[in-house]
Amino acid sequence: MSTDSPLLHLEHVVKNYRKLRAVDDLSFSIQPGEFVGFIGPNGAGKSTTMGSIAGILNPDSGVIKAGGVNVLDDPINARKVVSFVPQHLELYGYLTGLEYLQFVSSAKEIAPEDAKTQIEELLELSELTKAKHRLIKEYSGGMARKIAICGALLGPPKVLLLDESFVGLDPESTFALQQRLQRFCTEQGGAILLSSHILDMLERLCTRIIMLASGKLVLDQPMHELHELFKSKHGPNNLTELYLEKADKLDIVKKGS
Ligand code: ADP
Repeated sequence: MSTDSPLLHLEHVVKNYRKLRAVDDLSFSIQPGEFVGFIGPNGAGKSTTMGSIAGILNPDSGVIKAGGVNVLDDPINARKVVSFVPQHLELYGYLTGLEYLQFVSSAKEIAPEDAKTQIEELLELSELTKAKHRLIKEYSGGMARKIAICGALLGPPKVLLLDESFVGLDPESTFALQQRLQRFCTEQGGAILLSSHILDMLERLCTRIIMLASGKLVLDQPMHELHELFKSKHGPNNLTELYLEKADKLDIVKKGS
């Protein structure tokens, strides 16, 4: 794999919450077109890592670059490169779904005609067209998550961070959105970091898996290598078995992360 110009680059990132080291000397790079599944037990440091990449949290040390922009030194330009859908959504409840997407488009400085086309396409594939004039505060949890993903895809950005974004989504729109995310990587050259505990979904969607435990990187492997491993006679048969083996070896289950 080329390491020429990664879309996302983390180098020795450390983030402490008082005495707790949530992210511990974390380094990895993600290239254009990669769809990375971000796994690890609760408390492993996934959300903290994503919040740091998105510029919401300040790491104690290390370097984070998105699309070549230093996130810590130049947060305004970094925000033009990275879109983040956090686990705990903070949307504008008194906007309709359509108004929200129009607001995001203007914040991202997308030309109005282009924005209109993108919004229509995203509302349609996420099955929110009928609900576009309803207030977001009246949306179900799944609908709110879908409108947030649509907003994040507008642009498009270069890097998309999705923190547990598939929780509570119905199968029909999940499938369409997942295909759209894959096209974001394959056709638009974007990079995705998706944290999730739905390991069979990640196994199907992702081109690479990164696992954290206690803030440290404990696995970083391309999906095609993992598929080969799962086909071999010995060893894990799927990502869930691999995860459980790894967790057992690291004693995560007994100690907590
Ligand atoms: P994950 O997303 O993998 O579940 P987090 O990044 O949310 O992990 O949490 C990593 C560690 O940091 C956990 O031990 C968690 O309790 C702690 N943590 C997260 N946010 C805060 C916070 N705002 N203040 C103090 N500790 C936090």
